[in-house]
Amino acid sequence: MKNLIVGAGFSGAVLARKIAEELNQKVIVIDSKNHIGGNSYDYRDENGIMIHKYGSHIFHTSLENVWQFVTRFSKFNTYMHKVVALIDGIETNIPFNFKTLYDVFPQTLAKRLEEKLLAKFEYNKKVPILEFQKQEDEDLKFLANYVYEKVFLHYTTKQWGVNPNEVDGAVTARVPVYLSQDPRYFQDKYQGIPLEGYTKLIENILNHPNIEVRLNTKFQDITESYERLFYTGPIDEFFDFEYGELPYRSVHFKFEEYDKEYYQSNACVNYPCNYDFTRIHEYKYYLDDKSPRTVIAKEYSEFFERGKNERYYPIPNEESARLYKKYLEKAKTLQNVYFLGRLGDYKYYDMDKAIARALELFEEIKGE
Ligand code: UDP
Repeated sequence: MKNLIVGAGFSGAVLARKIAEELNQKVIVIDSKNHIGGNSYDYRDENGIMIHKYGSHIFHTSLENVWQFVTRFSKFNTYMHKVVALIDGIETNIPFNFKTLYDVFPQTLAKRLEEKLLAKFEYNKKVPILEFQKQEDEDLKFLANYVYEKVFLHYTTKQWGVNPNEVDGAVTARVPVYLSQDPRYFQDKYQGIPLEGYTKLIENILNHPNIEVRLNTKFQDITESYERLFYTGPIDEFFDFEYGELPYRSVHFKFEEYDKEYYQSNACVNYPCNYDFTRIHEYKYYLDDKSPRTVIAKEYSEFFERGKNERYYPIPNEESARLYKKYLEKAKTLQNVYFLGRLGDYKYYDMDKAIARALELFEEIKGE
């Protein structure tokens, strides 16, 4: 065997395809789960609804090479994600934008705030909440406190177990205050859902005569020798947690099925002010699946514990960065062993960034 890839998510699959196709080398891709796709795995249930088992996955990218790559293996629809949030019982969109202002405040107050915002910020600017809080004007201070409290404080506490000031700024900056009328969650050039789902997309990527996929297979199960190893599993686990465990947040989903066409007005409704779950996903929206029934999932966040739940989100902070760096230094001493993916790089990658990383790594290793 020439190449062993551990993990059949996006990172592993993309790298496998590049090696198989462009270097014409054999690749074995293993995964400890009983399915490919990692956490982007989806399946059609008995109602014909495509369920994202590990939570909503919405593809969005501005990276030309990534879009070019994925569209070789699947057609995509033109779904553009919007997130509805219930703020004090009012349905509005997140990120907080000019439309949100008019949804939640009396019109005269909204207008005053809008004018002050336009006088202070460039139109279309995205301002992270931690920066947005630095206001001197009393009205804008009121607005910043409102957005912090109603959009970020409780949601972030539910999602990360700590308040927004204790979470790495890059995390809350993913959902900025957006000085725009644009109600969408993402502004990327390309957005959509693969028409036959993510599992099929990844199956197509892996479908190459040089690629062999083995499911229900742990890294320790491999007895054959290989020349190169690409590891998309947790880097700390690879080194037997020698320096300690890298922390993760996990989530679990409470699925519910209803005998009605729709449960809510949108694919994803956030609950930044109420309940213990962060958001509710209603899956039939993504591919416009037709069924008289509907399936939803309430998303609850919790700490990751080995043997109890799955790793979902690396927790970026100084301590975890220090620990990760130790593992990275150790990794660099190994010959022909490469780490990638959310768990291998310990990075909060979106799907497109995980793919971009795999494509870049391929460019680095292809001449070796
Ligand atoms: N966030 C929030 N309120 C929201 C949505 C997001 O406070 O209604 C914060 C929260 O800290 C969250 C982060 O922004 O973890 C990033 O949200 P995103 O939707 O990008 O997370 P993902 O979809 O990757 O879980």
